[in-house]
Amino acid sequence: MSSKPHPDAIAFRDHDHRRCQRERLSAADKLCESRRLRLTERRRKVLEILLASHQPMGAYDILAELNRAAGNERLAPPVVYRALEYLLAAGLIHRIESRNAFIFCVHPGHRSSAQFLICRDCERVAELESRDDRLLADAGRLGFAVDHSVVEITGVCAACQKNGS
Ligand SMILES: [Zn+2]
Ligand SMILES: [Zn+2]
Ligand SMILES: [Zn+2]
Repeated sequence: MSSKPHPDAIAFRDHDHRRCQRERLSAADKLCESRRLRLTERRRKVLEILLASHQPMGAYDILAELNRAAGNERLAPPVVYRALEYLLAAGLIHRIESRNAFIFCVHPGHRSSAQFLICRDCERVAELESRDDRLLADAGRLGFAVDHSVVEITGVCAACQKNGS
């Protein structure tokens, strides 16, 4: 057994989440450096807020956290949306469409499409970096030009199945 679980599976496993956060943040820094992206203080803060857990967060919850951290300053929603847009474009976070919420990317900057397993009990989301893009290949065969592909699978994670029933 490897001491370092594959990032795909990490959300549903017991793991050292502090280490998980540190690794993601340093991966984000490296990615930004190599692609000349600017992780401003605010964007980084939004990323850190998302890194708090493996559960996706809505923009307004992120805003509330930002405002809590900002003290007297009251930030408006567009500030959060701009930061989220930037982080999405940079490949550091993903949008979970079915939840209208955002989650940090477990392997920042990956090229292939992402697929998500969403536990409806604990609301944690595991990201699978798809190695099997049959769906996209099918779309290509139909002459369809894909802009964006989102696969979200809802169910119950192994830990919640054990806890429940
Ligand atoms: Zn973690
Ligand atoms: Zn990802
Ligand atoms: Zn669960």
